[in-house]
Amino acid sequence: MNKLAKLDHQFVWHPFTQMRDWLKREPVIIVAGKGAVLRDMHGREYLDANSSIWTNLHGHNHPRIDAAIQRQLKKIAHSSALGVANEPASLLAAKLVHAANFISTGGTSYTSPHSKKAKSGARGIRPSEVWLEKAFFSDNGSTALEVALKLAYEFTRRSRPASRRQIEPRFLSLAGAYHGDTVGAVSLGHIDLFHKSYSGLLFKTDQVMSPYCYRCPFNRARPERADAREYRQCNWECVDLVEKKFTAQKRRANPYAAFVFEPLMQGAAGMIPQPPGWLRRVTEIASRHGALLIADEVMTGFGRTGFSPSTLNPQPSTVLFACHHEGVQPDFLCLAKGLTGGYLPMAATLTTQKVFNAFLGEYGEFKTFFHGHSYTANQLGAAAALANLEILQSNQTIRARQILENNLRDELQTLWSLPNVGDIRQVGLIAGIELVRNWRTRKPFDLRERAGIRVCETMARRGVLTRPVGNVIVLMPPYCTTPAQTRKMVRAVFDSVREVFGRRFL
Ligand code: PMP
Repeated sequence: MNKLAKLDHQFVWHPFTQMRDWLKREPVIIVAGKGAVLRDMHGREYLDANSSIWTNLHGHNHPRIDAAIQRQLKKIAHSSALGVANEPASLLAAKLVHAANFISTGGTSYTSPHSKKAKSGARGIRPSEVWLEKAFFSDNGSTALEVALKLAYEFTRRSRPASRRQIEPRFLSLAGAYHGDTVGAVSLGHIDLFHKSYSGLLFKTDQVMSPYCYRCPFNRARPERADAREYRQCNWECVDLVEKKFTAQKRRANPYAAFVFEPLMQGAAGMIPQPPGWLRRVTEIASRHGALLIADEVMTGFGRTGFSPSTLNPQPSTVLFACHHEGVQPDFLCLAKGLTGGYLPMAATLTTQKVFNAFLGEYGEFKTFFHGHSYTANQLGAAAALANLEILQSNQTIRARQILENNLRDELQTLWSLPNVGDIRQVGLIAGIELVRNWRTRKPFDLRERAGIRVCETMARRGVLTRPVGNVIVLMPPYCTTPAQTRKMVRAVFDSVREVFGRRFL
């Protein structure tokens, strides 16, 4: 084993990793990257098929992001946001606020009171009615959620009459939810495997069914060789359950303070996509019951959910955020991962003037938002994020993303011939491939069989790196991925599934 691998084995504890298994084999040590390709210390190349755990957008070593960081580095790397402001963070906050207030037109034209702020001419978008005005910076997805959670909690308490302020604001999130690993974010989560051990540390939140069409007890359709959303037979019973949940909580005289969700696709829950219309329906219910909307776009943000016509809007639009595809504007928009193009750890929680105002007062009233991190509004991160936004909005990359989304859709079709592939679900530039024991019965593999892990290990030997979510293989290519690279990624899934489960075809 080489020296670096030995050091890793001796000193590093890896996240979400059974270290006993890790220590059995020599790790892949990445030393360089270019575009969608990662290179290890032996010179072996791999395709980065999950964009380095869903962070990278435009590929590694992107000349414009590299240059932006280098330019900033010549000035300063970091100064605190506690007490002083800085150039790139101010510019970034303004750009994020601008990008976050355009939602999909759904084909209709619209004039908003804010339309003066609107930049005209962009495709399929209009200004939103709820205007996100403020950006609070932090370091990662978990803290972006933690900030939204604390703000929503305190905003709700402060908005109530004094006699009701002792009642704890309550939160509702989705079954299978994952919103990060800090204690507040874990409290919003509902994955027993990750969260149960810490139940003693957490505060109680409620969960409601999420629309997992492939395994939905209300879906009467027999399995087909297609995305389960397309052939499902149901009457939106999952939406009725959301309505019931809100009504029941109102009867307890403590309506939900906020509804927390990943829009269009739940990531760590198993790449669970929402059928078109679900998001708009459930957020209408939540808003009608007075709940704030907290959108976790840590995975879905910055164009990840693509241009897919499978959303409500049949026209491709250039909106960058998943909830905007369904015309939904949240009260809190949580961003991280792709914010810096996958370069540096930085996050932002966007919210409204109304929430901001609830924290204004005389110093001695102590209404201040007492929360912050040492690296809040870090200049290098902000410089990378500004470059990222510029690239994202250029016509050239918009076109490239459209092509990649279509290529990925075409290539994925080849996997239906494998009997151990139960469901293939694609939302924009995210694909989840659910492995099953038998596609006709949807019988799952026991997690202990490590089906997903085994397939991904085999893919790594074929030069394609990704990580499964349980039995779901994730493909989330960087936006610069070429047609040949997309084909190689899907081919690696194909060959690896056959190698692990046998060479059968349908
Ligand atoms: N929310 C979602 C939807 C995520 O996918 C993740 C990370 N996978 C997080 C929050 C937490 O982000 P981080 O790992 O940056 O803390």
